[in-house]
Amino acid sequence: MITILRIGHRIQRDKRITTHCALVSRVFGADKILVDTLDKKIEETVLSINKRFGGNFEIITGVKTKKIIDEWKGTIVHLTMYGEKLDEAVKKIDTKKNILLIVGAEKVPRYIYEIADFNISVGNQPHSEVAALAVFLDRITKGKWIDKKFNGKLEIMPCNKGKKVITNK
Ligand code: SAM
Repeated sequence: MITILRIGHRIQRDKRITTHCALVSRVFGADKILVDTLDKKIEETVLSINKRFGGNFEIITGVKTKKIIDEWKGTIVHLTMYGEKLDEAVKKIDTKKNILLIVGAEKVPRYIYEIADFNISVGNQPHSEVAALAVFLDRITKGKWIDKKFNGKLEIMPCNKGKKVITNK
């Protein structure tokens, strides 16, 4: 089970990026996202995607970061441009254990670097939490996220031209 912990979320400034973190996590093989700041709007957006496109991805906002970390039973991974190389680090992670995957928004407090079992970089340049999440999740799931079935009301049929969407009963 993979849980994302999004820290430093600022309601106005980060609303789109945090929503994108949630949507990418949902599709790329994570099970749940926890967001430190209470933000009902983001919860509604994600639940409305579940309602239409299926799956049971969970979102909880307004969590206490320290409590989540202190009580975590499993591996803690922190994505940071200062971390060790992705490909080498991923090999060391036991995917049978629960993973708490931390991504920041504003400056990440020092203790996160210390408590993480793995500080992992997706390249050593600053970019985006959304991209870092997508690439990490792709590697940790060995690309298998793509075959995940969501069994939603709406299902998109891949096609070269146009939009083919079926509505399931
Ligand atoms: N300035 C912040 C700091 O010093 O901690 C980082 C801000 S960055 C826009 C937001 C988040 O994106 C980071 O906390 C990290 O989780 C993720 N991120 C950005 N670039 C990354 C990289 N190259 N590798 C891994 N994660 C990255």
